[in-house]
This record gives sequence, C-alpha cells and structure tokens, in this order.
Amino acid sequence: MNIWGFSISEARVINYDKNDKSIAAQLSKEVPDSNLCIGCGGCSATCTAGNLTDFNIRKLQMSIKRGETTEAARELHKCMLCGKCLTVCPRGVDTRKMILTLHKLLHN
Ligand code: SF4
Ligand code: SF4
Repeated sequence: MNIWGFSISEARVINYDKNDKSIAAQLSKEVPDSNLCIGCGGCSATCTAGNLTDFNIRKLQMSIKRGETTEAARELHKCMLCGKCLTVCPRGVDTRKMILTLHKLLHN
C-alpha cells in the first residue's frame, strides 16, 4: 500500500569486490582524464541522447567504475557522439573519447 505518496525501493546489494574492474583499469590507462570525474552530472544534463532516450552518461561512468559492465555495454550505442557533453565538463573529461574507447573495450 502506498499511503504516503512514495514507496521504499527494493534493497540492491552490490558485491563490489567480486566485480571485474579490468575495463575500468584499461579505460583509466587509455583516457586518463576519466579519473578526474567528480560525478557532477553536467554531462548528462546537457546530453543530446539523454534528452531523447533514457541514456545517462554519468550513470554509465559509475557502472564502469563499479565493474558493472553488462548494462553499460547495452547503453553505449545510444550516444550520438555529438560531443556536447565535453564542452560543459568542469573537469575537462573527454567524454566522447571515453565513449569511443569503451566501444572498443566492451565490444571487442
Ligand atoms: S560533467 Fe565531467 S565531471 Fe561532471 S559527471 Fe560529467 S564527466 Fe564527470
Ligand atoms: S557525445 Fe554522447 S554522451 Fe555526449 S552529449 Fe553527445 S550524445 Fe550525450
């Protein structure tokens, strides 16, 4: 029953230590500025694909860092590579290069 206008989400347990973080390590090597992300969400707020679909580039980055690559691999193709996100990033992360590198790492 939902009498308060909200409900409590199902608990979601992430066994962080068991996840494979090799993709995150490789990304960090190939696109070092991806380590500078502070998760501000500026990129996703500006994202062209995010305005048209449920794509969320900030969430995608977090998934990669957690080693949750299956969902990230499914989401990647929604990015149109327009480059808008990198013009707003306060940390100078080359998000477009990051996406292209992830395509190579996740789909090869
Ligand atoms: S705008 Fe830059 S710092 Fe902010 S979440 Fe996106 S990539 Fe990270
Ligand atoms: S390059 Fe991709 S992630 Fe960045 S704004 Fe364009 S569609 Fe969004």
